[in-house]
Amino acid sequence: MGGHRFFTKNNEIKGLWQEALGDSLLTVSRLSRIHYKGRFFNYPLSFLNALSNLGLSESLLILLSYLKSRGNPHPEEKTFEQWVSNRFGKRLYETFFKTYTEKVWGIPCNSLGAEWAAQRIKGLSLLVAVSNALLNLQKPKSLINEFNYPLNGPGMMWEAFQETIRAKGGQILFNTEVTGIFHENRRISHVEYALRNSRKRVPVSHVISSMPITKLVTALDPKPPESVLEAARQLRHRSFIMVGLIVDNKALFPDQWIYIHSPDVKVGRIQNFKNWSSAMVPDPCKTSVGMEYFCDEGDELWRLTDEDLVAIASGELSRLGFCDTGDVSDGFVIRQPMAYPVYDEGYQERLMAVRAGLEEFENLQTIGRNGMHRYNNMDHSMLSGILAAQNTLGATRDLWEINEEERYLEEDTAERTPFLESLFSRAFARMDKLAFATALGSVCGLAIFLATLWLIAKGGDVVGPNMSLLSQYFFGYSVTVKGACIGFGYSFAWGFLFGWLFAYIRNLFLALSIYQIKKRAEKLSIQDFLDGF
Ligand SMILES: Cc1cc2nc3c(=O)[nH]c(=O)nc-3n(C[C@H](O)[C@H](O)[C@H](O)COP(=O)(O)OP(=O)(O)OC[C@H]3O[C@@H](n4cnc5c(N)ncnc54)[C@H](O)[C@@H]3O)c2cc1C
Repeated sequence: MGGHRFFTKNNEIKGLWQEALGDSLLTVSRLSRIHYKGRFFNYPLSFLNALSNLGLSESLLILLSYLKSRGNPHPEEKTFEQWVSNRFGKRLYETFFKTYTEKVWGIPCNSLGAEWAAQRIKGLSLLVAVSNALLNLQKPKSLINEFNYPLNGPGMMWEAFQETIRAKGGQILFNTEVTGIFHENRRISHVEYALRNSRKRVPVSHVISSMPITKLVTALDPKPPESVLEAARQLRHRSFIMVGLIVDNKALFPDQWIYIHSPDVKVGRIQNFKNWSSAMVPDPCKTSVGMEYFCDEGDELWRLTDEDLVAIASGELSRLGFCDTGDVSDGFVIRQPMAYPVYDEGYQERLMAVRAGLEEFENLQTIGRNGMHRYNNMDHSMLSGILAAQNTLGATRDLWEINEEERYLEEDTAERTPFLESLFSRAFARMDKLAFATALGSVCGLAIFLATLWLIAKGGDVVGPNMSLLSQYFFGYSVTVKGACIGFGYSFAWGFLFGWLFAYIRNLFLALSIYQIKKRAEKLSIQDFLDGF
């Protein structure tokens, strides 16, 4: 539901999309801006655009707040607020991150774990950071200006898969709820489902589940231990309402979607479907928008009638200046429970407890976004399904390993990675100061020692007239065997000192460059963060 960007770096998934959709897989040039206090900001944020929209004095305040946070960062980074403020300054965080994030999650940013923001950045190895910086290999998604989209929306792809499954003899049951998962001896033996008014129980050899992991745990029979059930109950989800409005106006705005940061309206994001694919709106004189509201299942907004929601959405669309209320000719509402797994404090421990409870079963695998309580995009969700299917045929892929984005992206370049990783590790290794200084000192010392001995062996009327000038610098040096030893000592000492200083400065520059590269990669990555919702 909602707009779905088709973007993946996984060739297998890309191939599947192309195979299912053929020429109906369009390439769309992305435009999606931020609407804040009546103005449009480019996304990702660009300096000049932000400056002209915010004005000089606000921009200066943002800069000062940024410098303050750099000079005096929050000592711990447990919450989303601390994490983002430390990197962007409190004022920029409050302008561009706070309101939208709180709309999405429904909890204050100082209660939201930093994991959400740090998720991708944590996974950035030196290889990825340097690749980003130097080779421009792995751009954050937000900086990718094009994505794919099916001519008539994502449902087209699922219809194509459905046809293929049926053509190959597979069976798909719609409107069918799994109500019980029965097990014995660490294996799932039967699955019970409800179709219309009847319940059926079928024997199973394997279960691959994409239903929310929380529901899966409660469907188990016999029940898992209370600790597992309690951990599952504590995993939270955020829900989502989309109010579709038909507007009698052929062009409202050019973006595919707009992030609405203004706190004075409830809507979080507005989709403009004809800008994803013109075929989505059959009458070119009209526009179809999706007003997206983030909420909790059963809360005040969720319980509003469809008529009320359409009225609120129409009012907000006109309040934001996109149309007049009278332009809205019709509307409908879709409520999507459990749209987003919530990464609140302690969710990881709870998820680990649930996973441990489920790993008991030899023939059960969980996949997808809610199935793994992971922030999977469509491609990751599909990949987890493919790998789970391969596991039923004897493969041993760990599904929990694949959907952390950076690692997963790196996996795509698995052949190159070990070589590049070792190359980068060697190129960026710290220099051992003592070893380098000793080596350089020895080389310098030996050079003088051997050169002096060679001149003595060569002999002549005046032995080594040029080299004896060294005594001006090396007190006691002469072109004699004793002088060779003295020369060795002096040149060793100078070589050692020079080598140590060189290694020290080189290490310092290296550390600074790595820090800078990682910070830049971190910044690029966080620019991607709005797109994850
Ligand atoms: C608003 C929004 C925008 C998004 N935008 C993008 C995007 O632009 N690009 C992108 O790649 N990804 C996007 N995603 C993420 C993407 O939608 C998910 O990664 C993907 O849909 C997850 O697939 P899934 O199979 O895990 O779960 P789902 O698609 O949710 O499928 C799970 C299915 O299980 C069913 N189910 C639940 N309980 C039971 C039960 N007891 N019995 C039987 N069936 C049950 C549900 O009805 C559902 O059909 C977006 C997500 C949202 C919410």
